Amino acid sequence: MRWWSVLGVLVALPAMVRAERAADPPEVSFADAKVLLSPTTTTTCTTIPCLIEQAYARDDKARTLALALFEDTGNVAGVGPKELMDGGFRGPIQLVPQLPLGKYRKHLAWTSEAMHSIDTFFATLFEDQKIAPSYRWRALSLRYVRSVGKRTPSAYAFGWTMEYNVEGSLLTTAGGVLETIVHELFHLNDFAHSEWSATTLQQDYDAIVARCGTKASCLEPYAPNRTKVRATGTYYAFQPNNGNGVHEYAAELAVRYFTEQSQMMHSGKLTRRAFKCGPAENARAWQALVDEFFAGRDLVPAC
Ligand SMILES: [Zn+2]
Repeated sequence: MRWWSVLGVLVALPAMVRAERAADPPEVSFADAKVLLSPTTTTTCTTIPCLIEQAYARDDKARTLALALFEDTGNVAGVGPKELMDGGFRGPIQLVPQLPLGKYRKHLAWTSEAMHSIDTFFATLFEDQKIAPSYRWRALSLRYVRSVGKRTPSAYAFGWTMEYNVEGSLLTTAGGVLETIVHELFHLNDFAHSEWSATTLQQDYDAIVARCGTKASCLEPYAPNRTKVRATGTYYAFQPNNGNGVHEYAAELAVRYFTEQSQMMHSGKLTRRAFKCGPAENARAWQALVDEFFAGRDLVPAC
């Protein structure tokens, strides 16, 4: 779940992102799809479905899933390169390409389910709304890899690309995959909004860290989500040596937004206290998130 701004070369200003969505839906280019699906071999294909058919030729079920994922959501599921990653607090990690087929096919099924859920989430939440969210959740490059001897990171994201580790410790259930993808999607949108989290939330974030350090009991009221780092026992949103932690805090905030709006849509109530009804920092962060990315749309009643 690391985010490298240095690699995020596909920067778009927020206004450009909105204009792009209205006039010209985003899409993965054929050249990018070729890198994802046929990185080491030559191909005679001239279309993305052809590339998918060739790459997944030895697994009919996976091929059907990958084709439908592309058809329905514009996402292209291929592989990432072999690389030795600097994992911050995780140490160095060897990653190798791993197409999600055969015994890894379930990851493609979970991804597909998550992407369709996210699509439905936005369609339902913004049905009949005059203003669309300033958010992109379709047409991503999905790079599947496998970590050697480690189970982290589960995923990371840059430049409308999401890298997915089939050995990732958070990616063992459909729910874990959905939550991780919602988290990573936020990183992509945060970056497209000129690193909104660092410009908007940094001051409050730094004050919380100064007050609590990594002590989970102190951080608990401020943590948007329950995900913790096993090695340190602290909340992922406040884990040190993990890039700028405010990026992680904001991505976890987006997960909470997704959770709370989903609960309001499905049952009209929340299963725990609304995040915005916690400390003042929470209320500020929540409102800023809702206004910047989600057109002010918040189904959670006032505190
Ligand atoms: Zn992250």
